[in-house]
Amino acid sequence: MTILQIQCLLAYLGYYTITVDGIWGHGSDQATRRFQKAEGLNVDGDPGTLTQAALLDAVENGRFKQDSNKNPTSGSDESSDYDTQYLKADGYYHIPRGVNVQLSKNLWSNEVMCQGNGCCEESIISKRMVETFQAIRDEYGGPIEITSDGGSGFRCPFHNAYVGGSSKSLHLTGDAFDLHVGDKTRLLAVCEKIITDGEIGLYPWGVHAGVWDRGFVNRFNG
Ligand SMILES: [Zn+2]
Ligand SMILES: [Zn+2]
Repeated sequence: MTILQIQCLLAYLGYYTITVDGIWGHGSDQATRRFQKAEGLNVDGDPGTLTQAALLDAVENGRFKQDSNKNPTSGSDESSDYDTQYLKADGYYHIPRGVNVQLSKNLWSNEVMCQGNGCCEESIISKRMVETFQAIRDEYGGPIEITSDGGSGFRCPFHNAYVGGSSKSLHLTGDAFDLHVGDKTRLLAVCEKIITDGEIGLYPWGVHAGVWDRGFVNRFNG
């Protein structure tokens, strides 16, 4: 089987929830391990002959991934789907440059890392902003790009100055993401619903969304 076929089967069965792209990465490895564990196979993340045979058999016999909500014993497994090794007590991920880990269902750290070159060694990402992003993504129900078109997640002070960002920008603390979408009007409505304490900036490309603890929402047009 090709990588693409394996990803498709894992996705169909509910083990693989990110983009089916034919490229073997951390997400494919983790999905394979979850499947192998569920099937009682050797858990090595390697989709070898036995795993491929089990995939075909699971598809044929409809052995889908157990819903964690209906299966309390798998509850603890679910949270380990997302990487928390870089999460510090301050509530922020401190992620070294070059590391790409899954932060939530639809967010990988390389989507929010500082986009500058040679400016910093780690990116700081607010866990609360990650959760806010995921809530927006779930409600919006479609792809949201962050760093396309010069957008930002975290910006270190050097990169922030380079792009002309405000010295008080929430990007400096990883508390804001730029959300690029097809349907800006719908995204804005979703942000208004989800963000109750933070920033909602409307731009031609989408919405700058941020979180803070100031008890109000700062709305602006960029
Ligand atoms: Zn930087
Ligand atoms: Zn922004």
